[in-house]
Amino acid sequence: MHGKRVGVYVDTRRYQCQSCNKTFYAPLPDIDEKRKMTKRLVEWIGKQAITRTFTSIADEVGIVEGTVRSIFRDYINALEKTVRFEIPQWMGIDEIHLIKPRCVISNIQNNTIVEILKDRNKPTVTRYLSQLKGLDQVHYVAMDMWKPWEHSKPK
Ligand SMILES: [Zn+2]
Repeated sequence: MHGKRVGVYVDTRRYQCQSCNKTFYAPLPDIDEKRKMTKRLVEWIGKQAITRTFTSIADEVGIVEGTVRSIFRDYINALEKTVRFEIPQWMGIDEIHLIKPRCVISNIQNNTIVEILKDRNKPTVTRYLSQLKGLDQVHYVAMDMWKPWEHSKPK
């Protein structure tokens, strides 16, 4: 709240199922049950983690780094389901060295990166291009002559 860490204590009723004797608490609105924090905080952490280090967020919120990491993973997975990445009319296929060589798909007209694949191997590139929807919108492809890519074009 106003940039300060706030703890919320909530008294909830505990119930017991009469047939199996399991106990449970009344569900709380706006609380992420799995993480015992507000859904608002979970969303905030997800957004912050795009531009900040996990440790700095963990320190600020008062949680362990692993929690930040797992929230970030969920956040990205949710984004990937909702965000539609545009299909470039002029597609660039190139490589970038981030720890190891990876294939980069770019939009040459906009000078933007469309996707960074986990490596530059033929199966990875072929799989990516095969599952791409709207491939018929690609009019031109520019790439270097690295062998495995030549035949990555899906049927
Ligand atoms: Zn039960």
